[in-house]
Amino acid sequence: MGEHVIICEVGPRDGLQIAKGIMPTEIKKRWITAMAAAGVSEIEVGSFVSPKLIPQMADTAEIVRHAVTLPGLTVVALAPNLRGAQAAHAAGAHRISIPVSVSEGHSRANLNRSPDEQVAEVGRMVEWLAAQERKVPVEASCSTSFGCSFDGRVKVSEVVRIAASLAAVGVPGLALADTVGYAHPALIREVVHAVRAEIGDVLEGLHLHDTMGLGLANALAGIEAGIRNFDSALAGLGGCPFAPGASGNIVTEDLVFMLESMGFATGIDLDRLIAARVILREGLPNETMRGGVPQAGIPKTFRHAA
Ligand code: ZN
Repeated sequence: MGEHVIICEVGPRDGLQIAKGIMPTEIKKRWITAMAAAGVSEIEVGSFVSPKLIPQMADTAEIVRHAVTLPGLTVVALAPNLRGAQAAHAAGAHRISIPVSVSEGHSRANLNRSPDEQVAEVGRMVEWLAAQERKVPVEASCSTSFGCSFDGRVKVSEVVRIAASLAAVGVPGLALADTVGYAHPALIREVVHAVRAEIGDVLEGLHLHDTMGLGLANALAGIEAGIRNFDSALAGLGGCPFAPGASGNIVTEDLVFMLESMGFATGIDLDRLIAARVILREGLPNETMRGGVPQAGIPKTFRHAA
């Protein structure tokens, strides 16, 4: 029996936030529906941020309300603060992803707060959510855990410190994010081991970008270090509007190909996943779409993991 890996598709959030165009709401719904039908079990469908800052996310509440009707799908929404978490809870999101930058420069640019101020905000969000009747878990995403386009190197000890303070305010799960794509496999190993030594299984996932072409190598390093949750984006969309130089997320299609070929079941049908690119293209006609497997075609040698 093969092992399972959970892929959270972040294209509708991380991908669309930096897109040059705005995907019409109806097409966004069809795109998310198609990916869920292909077997994607978790999708980060949007973020509850000011539409003045990120106009692509203005319809997030409506998108969440649609996505929660899709069978078997865990609907994740990003919220950077308490107000966003309240909106995500009201819309019916199943999980709330909270960005927490490890580096001061990215934290100021993205959240207008220091990392420690954001950890305190996360504490307020956890507390508010715990008091609600409908329980919605949070996951913190530790941005710039492997380097920052403002501050350069990020100390491993700082990643460990922020991760530990998040666990201390009651965050049940967190991911390490290579927001700008500066990581390499040895660094992935080092940081994952250091963080796990401090907070154990509270460390769940990796969020990787392919800026330097090392995205899948980094994912493999994560697999070897025991990580079984990964974020990725269809067609490798993505980037951070407040992180100059960041390019797309790792490509979901290629990640599924690698994992399934290696015997890790993702639950995702690769054919149907690739077919969802047509809807993405319809919604964003001018966006660059990446991916080795979709461009080459699924090889005859490919088998899904059992
Ligand atoms: Zn990202």
